[in-house]
Amino acid sequence: MLILGLESSCDETAAALVTGDRRVLAHRLAGQEAAHAPYGGVVPEIAARAHVEALEPLIAAALDDAGVSLNQVDAIAATAGPGLIGGVMVGLVTGKALAHATGKPLVAVNHLEGHALSPRLSDPDLAFPYLLLLVSGGHCQLLLVAGVGRYTRLATTIDDAAGEAFDKTAKLLKLGFPGGPAVERAARLGNPKAVPLPRPLKGAAEPHFSFAGLKSAVARAVGQYPAEDLAASFQAAVVDCLVDRTTRALHAAPEAKTLVVAGGVAANGAVRGALEALATAHGRRFVAPPLWLCTDNAAMIAWAGAERFAAGLTDPLDLPARPRWPLDPAAEAVRGAGV
Ligand code: ATP
Ligand code: MG
Ligand code: FE
Repeated sequence: MLILGLESSCDETAAALVTGDRRVLAHRLAGQEAAHAPYGGVVPEIAARAHVEALEPLIAAALDDAGVSLNQVDAIAATAGPGLIGGVMVGLVTGKALAHATGKPLVAVNHLEGHALSPRLSDPDLAFPYLLLLVSGGHCQLLLVAGVGRYTRLATTIDDAAGEAFDKTAKLLKLGFPGGPAVERAARLGNPKAVPLPRPLKGAAEPHFSFAGLKSAVARAVGQYPAEDLAASFQAAVVDCLVDRTTRALHAAPEAKTLVVAGGVAANGAVRGALEALATAHGRRFVAPPLWLCTDNAAMIAWAGAERFAAGLTDPLDLPARPRWPLDPAAEAVRGAGV
C-alpha cells in the first residue's frame, strides 16, 4: 500500500509518500519561518498564499524522490483540519483535485490524528491502547488511544498550549521565531533554578494543564534575570507541569502499557528525558517519534491516512475543511467548566 500525504494546516507545507509497511519513501517540507519572522508569529493570509506556491512543486519533488508516479499511489491523504482554514483548504482542495483526476480515494486526516499515530510509524511495536501526551503549538492534551479513530481525552489545557507558551516566552526573551527550539538552546546555557516560577495546576486532582500564569510570570521577570536563566527556569517549570499532570493520567489509565509523547514540543530534549524517566518509574514503556516526526510534516499525515485506509475509511470529495476538529468530540461537548 502506498499513500501520498499532504499537510498545510499551519506554517509548514509538506508532501510525503509512505507505505503500509512503514517505509517513508519521500518526505518534503517547506517552512515559512522567514515570511512570518518579522511578525513574531504565523500570519494566516501569508501562510495560505505560501502554501499555494509551495505545494505543487513539493508533491512533484516527493514523487521524484520516491521514484513513483501518481498512478502507483493507492490513496491520497490530506489534512482536513484543525488549523488555519485558508491553509487547510489549500492542501485539502489539492488532495481532492488529485483524487478526482486519478480516480484514487481521498482520506481526510485530522492533523491531531497525524500527531497521535506518528509514533506507530517510527515504532512498529507500539500497540493500542497507549497513553498519549499530545504537546504541540495549538494543543496540550492527554489522550487514551484505543485504536484508529478511537480517542478518549483525559485532559486538556484550560488556557494556552505548551508550544504556545514556548513561543510566547521566546518572544518575551527576544530569542526569535519559531520559539521552541530557541528557548531550548538558550536553556542549555542557563540555570533552571535561578528564577522562581509557578507550576500552574500542579497537584490538582484532574490532569488538566494551564500555562497562562507561567507566561505572565516570565513576562514580569524579564529584565531582572539573564535570558538564559529565564529560558532554563521556564523550561523546567513546563517539564514539571507535564510530568505532574501525566503522572495523574498514568494512574487513571492502568490499561495503557506505553507512555507516548508526540507533537512539536515532543522534540524538546528536556521534555523527552523527563517523560522517559516517568514512564520507567511507572513500569511503562516509553515511545517518542524521532525529532523530524514530532514537528509538522506530511509523513505523519500519510501514515494516519494509511492506517485509516487499511481500516476501510475513505472520504467524499465534498468533505469540508474544518478549522476546529476535536479528536474526542464527546469531551469537547462538556466544555462548560472551561475545559
Ligand atoms: P497543532 O499541531 O496543535 O495544530 P502546530 O501544528 O502549529 O499546532 P507543531 O508543529 O506540532 O504545532 O509544533 C510546533 C510547536 O512546537 C511550536 O509551538 C514550537 O515552538 C514547539 N516546538 C518545536 N520544537 C520545540 C523544542 N525543541 N522545544 C520546545 N518546543 C518546541
Ligand atoms: Mg510550524
Ligand atoms: Fe501540528
